[in-house]
Amino acid sequence: MLHRDYDTQVCSVARSLEVVGERWTLLLVRSVMLGVRRFDDLQSHTGVTRSVLTARLRRLVDEGVLERRPYQDRPPRFEYVLTEKGLGLWTVIEHLRQWGDEHYPEPEGPPRVIVHKRCGGHPDVHLMCDRCGEPLSAWSVKAIPGPALIARGLETPPEEPVETRNLAPDPA
Ligand SMILES: [Zn+2]
Repeated sequence: MLHRDYDTQVCSVARSLEVVGERWTLLLVRSVMLGVRRFDDLQSHTGVTRSVLTARLRRLVDEGVLERRPYQDRPPRFEYVLTEKGLGLWTVIEHLRQWGDEHYPEPEGPPRVIVHKRCGGHPDVHLMCDRCGEPLSAWSVKAIPGPALIARGLETPPEEPVETRNLAPDPA
């Protein structure tokens, strides 16, 4: 481990921030949750520099938040998928999204909308579905582009829009 910023704190919040509190780290986890998994795609999705991206990905792999998985042999190429531990950050990111939507709303509406795949409802503040009442998780929801991203033309719709992929990784 590199130096610890909050070494004097006996606190699980501080300990978590040692891993996910660095600039870009949670945004990278968010991008992987949205289905962006390859180095170059992560770079263009976040705008982070290559050196910072390299360092953050390595840290997340070392911490067991992401797994580096080969998807091609020649030349060797890797993609990043969330581990069980990494998927545990879904609730953190979802609460941050809701907090941002509430306190820093975009004029057009939310940038992304989280949808319960089975019924089309949305997570409430307790991350229960507001339509069917089921507790939601990274496995049961998908993210779709919301009004703010669409209004600003920031959605680049490929054949399979990354925002509509499952948040959880495909079964290995
Ligand atoms: Zn539902």
